[in-house]
Amino acid sequence: MHSHFKLIALAPLLLTTPVLAQDFLTPLQDMVDQFTQGSERPKPPQSTAPTPAEIAPVPRPRPPDLPSAPVVTPPVVAEEEGAPETPAPEPEPIASTERDRVYQVACPAVIQGLVEAEMAPPLSEGICGEHSPLVVTAVLSRGRMVPLSSPVTTNCQMASALPDWVADVDGYAEAMLESRLASVDTGTSYMCRARNGGDEASISEHGFANAVDVTGFTLEDGRKIGVEADWAKATAPEGRLLRLAHDAACGGFMTVLGPEANAEHHDHLHLDLGCHGESCQARICE
Ligand SMILES: [Zn+2]
Repeated sequence: MHSHFKLIALAPLLLTTPVLAQDFLTPLQDMVDQFTQGSERPKPPQSTAPTPAEIAPVPRPRPPDLPSAPVVTPPVVAEEEGAPETPAPEPEPIASTERDRVYQVACPAVIQGLVEAEMAPPLSEGICGEHSPLVVTAVLSRGRMVPLSSPVTTNCQMASALPDWVADVDGYAEAMLESRLASVDTGTSYMCRARNGGDEASISEHGFANAVDVTGFTLEDGRKIGVEADWAKATAPEGRLLRLAHDAACGGFMTVLGPEANAEHHDHLHLDLGCHGESCQARICE
């Protein structure tokens, strides 16, 4: 059994270093002979030339009579005398159509018919911009499309927040003024500028297509209700409608600024989805 353990101890060395195996072949054969004594297996014939394949995987020599693999050489194309030299093929460049493609993202609100909008090319002006801006022309309110007085350029988030708010105002208008909305009167949307009444270094959400200004509403009976003209009539239906519109916006947008916020907002409601607070969940409703 002593020789058995020797063999086991040597086996990994032999398996991993076949060159060294030659040095150990003769003593190893002796060990194998001792190891296999007494077993059913017939003893291999004693030989001075050991059979390495039985002990360790020694690379077999290549049979001398086999023809060596034919060397494949690329066909030589005879160049015509005086023909211009063919340059080596270069890696295929990315097709210009692929390189110039603008990767924009789709807006579910458009696909679901909640807003009528066209995708616009990316906007980029210094820090300002939006990669997938929409030009929104109408929003769905209670089963019909209500047009915007002028198209607004916004991001998908703003486009998605508008329909519910317009539907609220539409319902208030019908209840209080007995006429539905004919249009939402819109002002500034995308514009790269500092914040109104804010510090000069601070870019307005308008600069990220993340804000829309609403100047008022036109009813189906032709009446126009404007923030500038009607906000002050606090107890009249027009003034109440504007206040309800302001307050309803505070549920769907993150910033709502009206005439009571500051003098810059005397003639419109500013709506945006800017991030306030560490987790973007704080709202400003003034
Ligand atoms: Zn604004």
